[in-house]
Amino acid sequence: MVKKDKNIVINLAKLSKYFGQRYDLIQAAGGNSSIKLNKQMFIKSSGYSLAELSISNGYSKVNNQILVDYLSRVKNKKISRYEEDRSFKILKNSLLYGGNPSIETLAHSILKKYTIHLHPIAFNMITVQKNSNLKINKIFKREIDLNQIYYIEYKTPGVALAKEIFNKLNGKPPKNNECCFILENHGIITSASSINKLITFTELITQKAEKSLNVNFERYKKTTKISNELDLAGFKNMSVLYSEDLIINDFLKKFNFSKINEPLNPDSLLYCGLSLMGSNSNLKRSLEKYKYKYKSYPRVIKIKDKIYFVAENILKAKEIEDVFKSHLYLYSGASEKRSLSKDDIKRLESYNPQKNRLRFWFDYEGKKEI
Ligand SMILES: [Zn+2]
Repeated sequence: MVKKDKNIVINLAKLSKYFGQRYDLIQAAGGNSSIKLNKQMFIKSSGYSLAELSISNGYSKVNNQILVDYLSRVKNKKISRYEEDRSFKILKNSLLYGGNPSIETLAHSILKKYTIHLHPIAFNMITVQKNSNLKINKIFKREIDLNQIYYIEYKTPGVALAKEIFNKLNGKPPKNNECCFILENHGIITSASSINKLITFTELITQKAEKSLNVNFERYKKTTKISNELDLAGFKNMSVLYSEDLIINDFLKKFNFSKINEPLNPDSLLYCGLSLMGSNSNLKRSLEKYKYKYKSYPRVIKIKDKIYFVAENILKAKEIEDVFKSHLYLYSGASEKRSLSKDDIKRLESYNPQKNRLRFWFDYEGKKEI
């Protein structure tokens, strides 16, 4: 891969990871991300989740000009099944590298350099309401007047939706540094001239949507703050999951966290790490102490009465949640527990077949580059 492309994919992975870990913004394998350079576009491949996109995985490179030209040809056409099939062929023809590009690639093609498509819960709590158009007009009057926000009536994802966006913009790229398309019964597409602008603008308008509904998703936003702290502590690009598992939260009310610290079996060591980390006030200091003692990042963090899981990506963090729940079951009951000996732990930590099991979700090589 040429260096220029590599830098773009690194940025695309960072961008995807930022949004991919946030449950309030995207769930499961939904959404997608893209970056344009000259007449090319790098976009998440179909079937991958934002969290999985890495330098070696989950993105496609397309000739963007082919897509823009196609949209100008269909801008006045009714989108039939035949046209949908044709759009898939065009999409395939535009492919320069990678797997099938995301179905929303056409919608990204006319937008700014950095684009993200999300399904934010707050926005969708509004867009599914029968009078959603009116509500959006009221909440975002200023942004709509400034041509920063556009409301798009429901269209099937793919060429029909892309055509609608194309026509809203009169076939020209957006003038503002940042803009957002609110998609009825679906989600949002935000686009901006820089990654920072894309993040700030998306967070800002999502917060505005939440405020209008009087909902508070601070618990999910906290995951971004924790990964920023991890970043500062030297653990780059980690994803954080906030646990809402009832069993886990119920157990934690009964347990003294410091007494359930030690791994009782190999998987607990592999997924949850050598030790859990509790932090009651200063997260930064707790992380420094943990790093000094264990030379690694904590996989399970308890901050006050909330529990978070840390991993290379959000899917992996969900696996940690799974194993941690079993860890709590193992600690339940009054009888004294037998933990793994220091020698057993040492042996497991240098045991490659055990580590290899984790490679399904990330590889150690990719980790160094992103
Ligand atoms: Zn979508």
